[in-house]
Amino acid sequence: MTLRFYNTLTRQVDPFVPRTPGRVSMYTCGPTVYNYAHIGNFRTFLFEDLLRRWLEASGFEVLHVMNLTDVDDKTIKGARAAGKKLVQHTKAFADAFFEDCTYLRIRPASEYPRATDYIAPMIALVEGLLATGVAYQSDDGSVYFAIAKFPAYGRLSRLDTRELKSGASGRVSADEYAKEDARDFVLWKAAQPDDEEVGAAWDAPFGRGRPGWHLECSAMALDILGRKWGEKVLDIHAGGVDLTFPHHEDEIAQSCAFTGEKEFARVWMHGEFLTMSGTKMSKRFGNILTARDLAEQGIDAAAVRLLIFQTHYRQPLDFTDESLAAAGQAVRRLAAFTERLAGPGRGGDDSALSAAAADLRRDFTEALDDDLNAPRAVAALFDCVTAGNRALDGGAAIGAAVRSAWAWAIEVLDVGQGVTKVDADLAGWVEAKLAERVTARQARDFARADAIRKEVEGRGVEVEDTAQGPKWRLR
Ligand code: AMP
Ligand code: ZN
Repeated sequence: MTLRFYNTLTRQVDPFVPRTPGRVSMYTCGPTVYNYAHIGNFRTFLFEDLLRRWLEASGFEVLHVMNLTDVDDKTIKGARAAGKKLVQHTKAFADAFFEDCTYLRIRPASEYPRATDYIAPMIALVEGLLATGVAYQSDDGSVYFAIAKFPAYGRLSRLDTRELKSGASGRVSADEYAKEDARDFVLWKAAQPDDEEVGAAWDAPFGRGRPGWHLECSAMALDILGRKWGEKVLDIHAGGVDLTFPHHEDEIAQSCAFTGEKEFARVWMHGEFLTMSGTKMSKRFGNILTARDLAEQGIDAAAVRLLIFQTHYRQPLDFTDESLAAAGQAVRRLAAFTERLAGPGRGGDDSALSAAAADLRRDFTEALDDDLNAPRAVAALFDCVTAGNRALDGGAAIGAAVRSAWAWAIEVLDVGQGVTKVDADLAGWVEAKLAERVTARQARDFARADAIRKEVEGRGVEVEDTAQGPKWRLR
């Protein structure tokens, strides 16, 4: 079977065919950097990380763009509350976001455009839409997109006109009266004193102001896709399910009206929510847990990743401490098998383990090819542990096939225990320190040996003295 994904546009699982064979352009809506991202946000980013990893493992070259929303109502409000300029306020949270991504082992995107660095393409987009007549300027200077002039509006979210109206009125703003039609959405907001105060206003031929959130993603995606690959249509656009309407619907309307193309992205993929006690995790509801909370508790990122991947991305996932602890146990079980495979093995036959490796490669591939069925891929890992341990208990030899299949599958999900992810600098430093400690102990300088141990532990490392010398691992 071939690689296939559920496409929100077609409402079915379709074979995945990129526009150009061998390469995939993918745009994923990134964080709004007005606060720390929570693990609900990261559930979506981890689904996208796995999507990108699986595309690459399947042999595609991937252009992955993830934006940072660093100007919108929330960031401006946050900057004002903090008494800072917009750029100062958002920079701290952008830095924190990248730290969290590193902790969670999210592969860096090819580009991370920040909205405030793309004001010129945003202005060009608005100008283009004004020129074609699908946009209009209201009396207060804001520019709106006229939905009535774009017949394909609503195709992605499949909402009827009545629902579209109520959806739009859910976002009623003070300048609602300025629109010609309640469903119209803002492209460019005329500058307000609050915007000026934090430095969130830019000059444009159609008046000073700032971009609307939907406009930002269209402009950044089209600008980068055009510059890098000379194209106007994405292969994949992804985000959380709450972005389907109005955000993605509006992105399609603006982009297609501007480029003249029938589509903005071939495939639209949406991840379901992470909940707590059944309620969507959201800053608004105050039920959030951040990645840094987990890092501070010493939780191995592998456990977080495994927990997320144990549920299909299109199913809701209710987060509990118990499920995280169980995922931690599961990671240790995987790690124990990794360690066993790294051992010498016995001199017997390696056919049982080779068969387990072949099953793993087949089941894991079939699972992820089938609309990124990560829970089935995880199950394939555990099937391999069971079959592999049985074979090893029976005296099987360990061949290269099982070692490479296992390493490949663990790396795609990136759920190897922390110790396998220690960076080389830290590992070198720890080794040198432990050698120093051995020397100190041989000289019976126990105070010095203890001090070194404390120093090493201070870097999150656990030391165990064994008959073969000191062993260490990340806590
Ligand atoms: P934001 O920072 O609010 O712009 O959201 C960033 C991403 O996180 C978007 O793709 C949202 O759809 C997604 N998101 C927000 N809340 C959740 C949640 N509770 N579970 C999963 N994804 C979420
Ligand atoms: Zn977006």
